[in-house]
Amino acid sequence: MAYDTNNIFARILRGEIPNKTVLETEHALAFHDINPQAPVHILVIPKGAYVNMVDFGARASATEIQGFYKAVSDVAIMAGVDQTGCRIIANTGLNGGQEVPHFHVHIVGGKQLGRMLGQ
Ligand code: AMP
Repeated sequence: MAYDTNNIFARILRGEIPNKTVLETEHALAFHDINPQAPVHILVIPKGAYVNMVDFGARASATEIQGFYKAVSDVAIMAGVDQTGCRIIANTGLNGGQEVPHFHVHIVGGKQLGRMLGQ
């Protein structure tokens, strides 16, 4: 799948759309989801142009991958969900229900989340 340079997270990375930043590093940006599904709902995205997690793992450098997942852990700790628990989700492609075609993980927590998948 070709990367759409006008997807909403690409526009956030270019500063064309505001975001509520939680953490910014060389390789990642974390910001609050605009439509939170739980008391904690933060998105973490790589700064590079990757469509989804599979694309990221296939094409990103080891430095980008290390930097991205380090940011995910740092954000979970900053948000205080490392001890209480959380769900880290990467919706991927059509069947995964991915809406924004720039790789992102959701860090969701702050309450008991119940079963992993809906009925
Ligand atoms: P997904 O279905 O995994 O692609 O999730 C996309 C997420 O992006 C949804 O949870 C949206 O609420 C969120 N979202 C869409 N636009 C924005 C935005 N401008 N700022 C923050 N979050 C957004």
